[in-house]
Amino acid sequence: MKVAVSNPLRRTPLSLIIDDSCPVINKAYYWIQQRHVWRVKHQPDKPPMGWEKHYDKLPLMPNTIPAAFAQAWGEWCGEQGIRGKYSLIPYPAGIGRVDRGFPDFPQREFDEWLRVYREVIWKNFDLTPEMMTHTHVVDLKTWQFTEEWEQVEWADPPLELLTDYIAAAMQLLKDAGFPCEGVTSPGGFGGKKEEAYAQAVLDASLRVNNNPRPFYFLRLDTKNPPRVPIRHAQKDKGIAIASIVSCAGDWFGATGYDTADPDLFITKDLQGGRCVEVLKVGLPCVLTGHWPCFYVNDQIGFKVLKEVKRRLDAYDPDGTKTLWMKNSEIGHYWMARELSDIKLGNWETGKLGEVKIATQFPTSNFTLSLDDCAAKRVQVNGNDLRQVQSQRDFRSGTFLVEGKTTFVAFDLKVGETGIAVHG
Ligand SMILES: [Zn+2]
Repeated sequence: MKVAVSNPLRRTPLSLIIDDSCPVINKAYYWIQQRHVWRVKHQPDKPPMGWEKHYDKLPLMPNTIPAAFAQAWGEWCGEQGIRGKYSLIPYPAGIGRVDRGFPDFPQREFDEWLRVYREVIWKNFDLTPEMMTHTHVVDLKTWQFTEEWEQVEWADPPLELLTDYIAAAMQLLKDAGFPCEGVTSPGGFGGKKEEAYAQAVLDASLRVNNNPRPFYFLRLDTKNPPRVPIRHAQKDKGIAIASIVSCAGDWFGATGYDTADPDLFITKDLQGGRCVEVLKVGLPCVLTGHWPCFYVNDQIGFKVLKEVKRRLDAYDPDGTKTLWMKNSEIGHYWMARELSDIKLGNWETGKLGEVKIATQFPTSNFTLSLDDCAAKRVQVNGNDLRQVQSQRDFRSGTFLVEGKTTFVAFDLKVGETGIAVHG
């Protein structure tokens, strides 16, 4: 008998990351406005780059996004089974604080937004800060803007401040009732010191939320096979941090006026596109979109998302190949996969074999493949798993035999787990 960890439920993880979302305001509108003012002041001779070029489109962009739209969007995602990560910028563009409200906008709209976050979106998405403002760095003593930008100068942040800054962002969310599972980097925030940045996020997560297994989203790689790097693991203590890497560009439309094309994710004939490339090799397929485009410009991004989801469903019509997961669930699975001790034995007569797992890294849907072993009965810590006959019915708490291989799935708990396999 040979044992290996499979993908969760033998399905490839899918996940949707939404960046730049926050209560009440359209963050992109203020980002473009503030960046323009900053550029005129500091770099008047430098041509505009990236979103800076959209300054002329500001009259087309609303400065708010209604809570009612977020509710409709979140409910649609829920009905579709989509899971992922959704940002909650704590002090977006310095316009209002999530723990206090947005003084220039109706209180009712802010209250509604928090209700939608809590009751609709949180069910299926991790909520994370995307650091503090996603525009200017604030001075934590005065809460005033500095001339530095989170995603520009703080791609290479001052280390002594970094943990405090991340912890302050997490604290605002916690005070608003949303202890977070991880963080999102605004742009390349922390990107030039990734090891130190990962440590700072982990330290802040332990400090504010007592959460020893957070994640961060910083990297997007549209070319290479995606991985789930685990950093700063302390195996005996159950402490580690996962880097969630997105495999696709924002082809939903970003501000509402950028590339929006479902074919780049998955072509109409389901044969091409980045998703297909990644799903074929069984690696986590994590998509990223910026919140404004789902609403702005006649909901262009939402239309792309609906089409992409239709095609992904056609690619996997009976749900046997893919599994939508939150970012935190992917992180926890990969920690369990890499940081659990798995030993094989055949210690008692009458059994085909026995697997012993020792871990400090719990996860749901933990899935093992046992080669050279067609089991008739499988027990996890003395409890029988139910045998199923097809991949479609393969769930946590079941086992499936295909030829000479047995697949078992169960929720992995902290401590020792014993799996007895009977012939
Ligand atoms: Zn962002």
